[in-house]
Amino acid sequence: MTERTPGFSTLAVHAGAQPDPTTGARATPIYQTTSYVFENVDHAASLFGLQAFGNIYTRITNPTSAVLEERVAALEGGTAGLAVASGHAAQVLVLHALMTPGDEFVASNKLYGGSINQFNHSFKSFGWNVVWADPDDVTSFERAISPKTKAIFIESIANPGGVITDMAAISQVAKRAGVPLIVDNTLATPYLCRPIDFGADIIIHSLTKFLGGHGNSIGGLIVDGGTFNWSRDKRYPMLCEPRPEYHGIVLHETFGNFAFAIACRVLGLRDLGPALSPFNAYLILTGIETLPLRMQKHCENAQAVAEWLSRHSQVSWVSYPGLPGDRYHNLAKKYVPKGCGAVFTFGLKGGYDAGVKLVSNVKLFSHLANIGDTRSLIIHPASTTHRQLSDEQKVKAGAGPDVVRLSIGIEDKEDIIADLDQALAA
Ligand SMILES: *Cc1c(COP(=O)(O)O)cnc(C)c1O
Repeated sequence: MTERTPGFSTLAVHAGAQPDPTTGARATPIYQTTSYVFENVDHAASLFGLQAFGNIYTRITNPTSAVLEERVAALEGGTAGLAVASGHAAQVLVLHALMTPGDEFVASNKLYGGSINQFNHSFKSFGWNVVWADPDDVTSFERAISPKTKAIFIESIANPGGVITDMAAISQVAKRAGVPLIVDNTLATPYLCRPIDFGADIIIHSLTKFLGGHGNSIGGLIVDGGTFNWSRDKRYPMLCEPRPEYHGIVLHETFGNFAFAIACRVLGLRDLGPALSPFNAYLILTGIETLPLRMQKHCENAQAVAEWLSRHSQVSWVSYPGLPGDRYHNLAKKYVPKGCGAVFTFGLKGGYDAGVKLVSNVKLFSHLANIGDTRSLIIHPASTTHRQLSDEQKVKAGAGPDVVRLSIGIEDKEDIIADLDQALAA
């Protein structure tokens, strides 16, 4: 009998997990421990020297997080994963492994607002310089490349939703420049899109959103695609030069196609410290078991709500690639054929005041700053997350006075629509 390759839903339930060898526990236990007893002095020495795999201290590895790492890596089709405390921590560790002060990376200018802040301010203080490019114009990535460029960073479906990035075209730019393509796949999840299939080398996730899926825990994850040759030139010293702190080993030589995940763990996570708590790893793992079911329902509901809004007399526009005629409709067919996700924006003819009124009158929707919950969520960026910006800056960031962002939950779609209907009528 030939061995079957398990399907996505099977991997979502089983990848990385097995019954606990000592107790038989079927669900993955929460290994709520800081540290692990060594077998003897030689064992300890080989662990510290990276000559053997094993647990030393939960800042670096933990058995509950290890199941989560293996599961997300399997769902993405990568070689290894690293779980960390948040999506933002994942971004810090990925660039820490690639950049030295004075280096540049090229990033899409349509990203989660928190990432734009992180890149513009905190990363600049580390000497990591972002150069912005426009995902709707692939040649702008080409023009942004310089001899100092170490990576390209994009989102598959860009938050606040509605923008589908032409990953395959941008991956060609990355290949010509000899740099890895990093894709934030938070909004799509591997259920809707697997960026490695389109040329991505490194995937990052905010587990906080659809992967965890229940609005109860912050977490992040890095997936090593195993696709990039770190030794082609001397551009990535952390991966291709001897490491003094590990008796001179060269990570790419020793760990091959999962060297990047190892670098993020044994240098980034070890020294910068944003470890995921085992309890959060457990909650997020439980969430991932139902990822395919939830994403189907999220997409079906979002499509219905987008269609309903596009026919509403108080609505001036809806930005959802699942709508025929949307500027990203064709890219969506290529990159997210199963559905366009649950996060999107729309405009109210009544402008700022109508936005404030809508978020004040909803009952089923929660007015808050998150996405990817089982519950339907709403925010009016101009009066909240983007309040500090000038009117011109707001419009440029896609947060003009009339813009409302939704993250559609998995309730009954009739109830979601009825809530928007009564709030718009109020
Ligand atoms: C939320 C989010 C992040 C940041 O993740 P945290 O877990 O909040 O740190 C990064 N990228 C995208 C697309 C997000 O939606």
